[in-house]
Amino acid sequence: MADALTRILFQKLVSMSGDDYEEGEIVIDKGRIVETRSGTSESFAGVTQDWSDCLILPGFVNAHCHLSLSGLQGKVARQERFVDWIESVVTENAALSWADRVEALHREARTLIESGVTALGDYFSYPELLVEYQTLPFRQLLFLETLGFQSALAGEKARSVEDLLQEHPAGAGSLIRLAVAPHAPYSVSPDLFKALKKLADKMDCRVSCHVAEVVAETQFLSQGEGDFLKLLHQREVYDPSWTPPGVSPVRYLEQLGVLQDMVTIHLNYLEKSDLNRLAESNASAVFCPGSTRWFGRRTWMPVKDLLDRGISVGLGTDSLASNDSLNFLYEIRLSEEMVPELHRSEILWLATVGGSQALNIEKLGLEPGQPADLIGFRFRSSEEDWWDLPFDRDRRQVDFSMVSGEFIFQKPNNKGRNQ
Ligand SMILES: [Zn+2]
Repeated sequence: MADALTRILFQKLVSMSGDDYEEGEIVIDKGRIVETRSGTSESFAGVTQDWSDCLILPGFVNAHCHLSLSGLQGKVARQERFVDWIESVVTENAALSWADRVEALHREARTLIESGVTALGDYFSYPELLVEYQTLPFRQLLFLETLGFQSALAGEKARSVEDLLQEHPAGAGSLIRLAVAPHAPYSVSPDLFKALKKLADKMDCRVSCHVAEVVAETQFLSQGEGDFLKLLHQREVYDPSWTPPGVSPVRYLEQLGVLQDMVTIHLNYLEKSDLNRLAESNASAVFCPGSTRWFGRRTWMPVKDLLDRGISVGLGTDSLASNDSLNFLYEIRLSEEMVPELHRSEILWLATVGGSQALNIEKLGLEPGQPADLIGFRFRSSEEDWWDLPFDRDRRQVDFSMVSGEFIFQKPNNKGRNQ
C-alpha cells in the first residue's frame, strides 16, 4: 500500500459509477480514494503524479480465467466434440511440468497486468500454487475447482475444500480471497453441489460454475445420454444412481438449491425461462468472448437480455487451452463484435464494475472510500471520445495500472512525471 498522500492528474476520469471528471485530480491515501474532482488545487501536500494527458478508468476485472493452465497454450487443438477437447486438456495438463506451469502462470499474469487487469476471478485446482498467486500484485478471487460425479465421494471432496478454506482465511489487506467452484453440471454429483453450496454459505464465500456451455450438456441433463455419458463411463466415474433431471442446466441447479448467488460462466444455451430463474436467484454471469470464438460457437450468452433483467455480467478470458491470448484488451474488442447491441461505454462497464459486481468483490468504481485500482490510457487527440481509447486496434497495453494506490505497471518510456 502506498503510504504517501498522492494525487494523480488526469485529462478525463470516468468512474463507471455515474460520475465523469475533466482536467482534474484524484487524491489517494493509504491505497484508497479520498476525493476526485475536476480542476486541480494549487498546492498539494503530497506526491503529484502527472498523467494529465490520460483517461483514467477503474481497473479491468477478468472475471473468469484458469491461469494455472497457461502452460497449455498451443498444445490443445480445437476438436469437433467438446469431450475430445476435455480429454486433450486432461492429457496435456498431466504432462505439463511444474516448472513450466509456474513459469507460464507468471508470464500470463504479466499479460493480464499490462492489458489493464487489476482484479482476477480464477479457477484453480492446485493448492500448492497459492504461494505463486500470493506474489501477484492484483486482486484475486480464487475459486477452488472441484470435480466428482460419484455421490459417494461428495463428503470427502467437500471436506478437503473446507480444509483449504480454513487454512487460508482472507487476511486484512490481503489481495486474495478463496471461493468455491463445482466444475460443471456434468462433472459434479448433486450431493457434491449441495455440500459445496452449504460450505460456501457457512464460510461466506462465492460459488461459481461453468453452466450451459455446450449442447451435449443440455442433452446429458435432459436424457442422460450422449457424449458426457460416454466420457464419464470411459473415465470410470459414472454414478448409476444418478437420474437425469430432464430440465435445462440452469433449472437443474435451481432445483438442487445451489443457483442462489452463483457466478455462472458461459450460459451459451439458455431457455427463455432460465433468464428469470437467474435473475430471481441473484445469480451473475461471465461472458468469455475469446473462448467462445475459439471454439467456433454459433450461439452464445444473450448478454443484453441478462443485463435487461438486472443480472450482473462481467467479462472473462477463460484459459489458454481455449483462447489464443489472455490480453484483456482483445476480449473487450471481441465483445464489441459479438455483442454489437452494446455501446462501447457499456462494454467498458462490463469490463470493470460489471465484473466486480458479478464476482461480488469490493465494488471497484473509483468512488471515495474504494480501493484505488485504476488504469490510464493516453489520449492521442483532443477530439477522441474516451470510450474509443481501449478499442484502438494497435493498443496492446494500458499506459499505467495501479492497485491499492501502487503502480503495478507503467508503459516503458512513457512514465508519469513525479512533481
Ligand atoms: Zn472455464
